[in-house]
Order: sequence, then structure tokens, then C-alpha cells
Amino acid sequence: MPERRIDLHTHSLASDGTDAPAELARKAAAAGLAAFALTDHDTVAGLDEAGAEAETLGLEFIPGIEIAVRSDFGELHLLGLWVNPAAPGFAATLAELRRARDKRNRAILDKLAHLGLPLSMAEVLTLARGEAVGRPHIAAALRGQGYVRSRREAFERYLARDGKAYVPRLMLDPNQGLELLAAAGATTVLAHPCLAPAMTRRRLDQLLALLCPHGLQALEVWHCSHDPNQTRFCLELASKYGLLPTGGSDYHGQNKEGVALGTGRNNLRIPYSVLEALRAGRAKGRPPA
Ligand code: AMP
Ligand code: ZN
Ligand code: FE
Ligand code: FE
Repeated sequence: MPERRIDLHTHSLASDGTDAPAELARKAAAAGLAAFALTDHDTVAGLDEAGAEAETLGLEFIPGIEIAVRSDFGELHLLGLWVNPAAPGFAATLAELRRARDKRNRAILDKLAHLGLPLSMAEVLTLARGEAVGRPHIAAALRGQGYVRSRREAFERYLARDGKAYVPRLMLDPNQGLELLAAAGATTVLAHPCLAPAMTRRRLDQLLALLCPHGLQALEVWHCSHDPNQTRFCLELASKYGLLPTGGSDYHGQNKEGVALGTGRNNLRIPYSVLEALRAGRAKGRPPA
């Protein structure tokens, strides 16, 4: 029997992916995955639909979320796995984060208009369809208008940190982000650690030394953006800090070309044992009944 595989980092139409949550579950089953997590940015709106379809298909589903935090190491992304959307205060905080996104999106459109590239919010929202709207949707609208030839060009020229229409948005501090996820019952993961600006093994070591005392529990060792060397040092640092290793493709459908569900850029094979270790960690962390 082939080894069972999983994917613990995916996005749907609820944020900046292009598959409906149920479609994502069907694609996960078709890809032969045994389990997957939906981890949309700042929203849990897709979880019920994805979970229901996964159940129908006999696929294990882990409800998740991804939030961004601002640190001295730049913008970091945290995943919460097994998040409880009904936890007190959780929905209100997410709504606040999404309002901050909306405000930022309007500011980006203002800047673009001043640059001679007018876009209407309606166009952006047509492309978004979910409740967490962001730069990938603006990139798609820029392409739709023929202002740029590709998503990549949209980010490089306008939307990336050094782009002409960049606007920062409100983000939590790392400790606030970790607290938010922990209070919602989630296992906390530092996502794609090597995507943070100028991240080296040494800097990641320093970053983990800061985050672990605030309750970080796991590290995304396997990710579509990691080269073999990064994967290796992430695994070593996870071991050094007692963090559980996780992995996911960060699949966004057509919003991230060349990244497939389960296998990423054909560099991922995440075994089911990773999920078993995470579950065991949760069982151990639970207070005695
Ligand atoms: P936002 O959530 O609105 O800040 O947009 C961030 C998302 O845009 C990330 O999750 C990535 O999927 C995507 N993104 C960020 N930077 C780039 C880039 N330079 N090129 C392409 N996509 C990017
Ligand atoms: Zn995304
Ligand atoms: Fe991310
Ligand atoms: Fe992601």
C-alpha cells in the first residue's frame, strides 16, 4: 500500500484561493490525500463546507486558519490547526482584521488611481467572492484590466512591500496572534518560516527562541517554497525547540501557479505520521478531565 499523505496548508475562495471549499475537498480526495487542512487568511467561512464534503468523501479534515503578525523579523504567518470558530471573541477579532484589510484595499486602489490605473472595488470583489479580500485579488483585477501581464508583475511593480501602491495593514503582534489561536483551541504553527525577509538558519533560530515562550507549538518544515537545505534546517530547529513538524503546499488554486495540492512544486510528500504526531501532541497537552 502506498504511504498515506496529507496537506495541512490550503486556501479556498473564502480568502485568496480559487476553489470553493467543497471543490478543494474533492481535489484533495482525487489527489489521494488521507487528510487535509483548510487554512484561509483571517476567515473560517469555508470550514463547514469543506468539512462536510470531506466527511462525505471519507477524508480527514482539520479546520484551520492563517493569520499574519508583525514582528521585528518582518511579517510572519501563523497557522492555527483544529481551530474552534465558536471560541469566545474569536469571530470578533477576525472581523476586525478583515475590516483592516478592507481599509487597506481601498487605500491601495487610491494609490493605483493616482498612478493612472483605476480599478473599482466592485471589480476586485467580483474576483474575490469570499470575505477575506487582499492583494492577490487586486493583482487579478490589475491583470483583468490589462495593466499588467501577470500576477507576479502586479506584485513586483505595485503590490509588494517595495511596490508603488503598497500600503501596510493592521496586524497583531506575534504574542497576540499566538494567544488568539491558542484561545481558540488551535495548535499554533509558524508557517513557511523561510519566506520571512532575509531569513537564514541563524535568524530563524533567534526567532524561534522568541516565539516559543509565547506558546508556539509547531513549525511548518515542509512547504512549497522550501529548498532541501531549508527543509533540513527547519527540521533540525524544530527538534532543538521541541516543536512539532508540520507541512503543507499552501495551495491557492489558480492564484498561485505551479503549486499543486499535496505536492506543492512537486517537492512535497508529507506522511500521515506527521498528523499522528500532532494529534498525540494535542492529547498530551490537554488538561486531565
Ligand atoms: P495580503 O493578505 O492581502 O497581504 O496578501 C498576501 C498574499 O499575497 C500572500 O499570502 C501571498 O499569497 C501573496 N503574495 C505576497 N507577496 C507576493 C509576491 N511578491 N508575489 C506573489 N504573491 C504574493
Ligand atoms: Zn493566501
Ligand atoms: Fe502565508
Ligand atoms: Fe497560506
